[in-house]
Amino acid sequence: MSIDRLREMIRESQNIVFFGGAGVSTESKIPDFRSETGLYTTSKNTQYPPEYMLSYSCFLKDTEDFYEFYKKKMIYQEAKPNAAHIVLADLEKAGKLRAVITQNIDGLHQMAGSVNVLELHGSIHRNYCTKCNKFFPLKYILDSPSIPECDQCGGIVKPDVVLYEEGLNMYTLDRAVEYIERADMLIVGGTSLRVYPAAGLIEYYRGNKLVLINKSETPYDSRAALSFNESIGELLKKAT
Ligand code: ZN
Repeated sequence: MSIDRLREMIRESQNIVFFGGAGVSTESKIPDFRSETGLYTTSKNTQYPPEYMLSYSCFLKDTEDFYEFYKKKMIYQEAKPNAAHIVLADLEKAGKLRAVITQNIDGLHQMAGSVNVLELHGSIHRNYCTKCNKFFPLKYILDSPSIPECDQCGGIVKPDVVLYEEGLNMYTLDRAVEYIERADMLIVGGTSLRVYPAAGLIEYYRGNKLVLINKSETPYDSRAALSFNESIGELLKKAT
């Protein structure tokens, strides 16, 4: 069975890299941007589409609305790591997994104990003053009545999250490429691999142990050594 093969691959690999998308977080009840119950579908009634509400223009021009939307739709304080996060943290502790590359901004991998986490889209847990660059934790944003202002210089605080119209952090992207190039096993989970940069990143993998785990099919399924269309948390738990 392919689950046995997956277990075997994990056992024989020493340099596993995991690359994850929104599907990793939906199992912790954080909605996916585009799924049925996702942000895009549930916010259709608001005046502007979420692509605007989460854009850099909105942050600059309609900062109060940006933060209202952001706090309501992007932050799930009660979310806890699921089985996928925990298995990956355990694999890192066991010296088998070298990096988690994620498109999620929720910090759940770190909460589960992962240390080397490359966050392509940033994190809600890091926030910086746009004037003096002072760091603020998530709590500071949540405790601010409307627009979070720096307690040192009065500047507006911005989440270190890649908004629409903003580019990815090139340093993080380069490191992600390096880890993928060196990996002996690449597990890709919770992404349909249809959107940049996900699809491009897996092209850097040179090994023969590409494993795809996603609830629906992806365009890369036929190129993978193994592909599973099921819950990533349960599958990884069974395979380790
Ligand atoms: Zn400041």
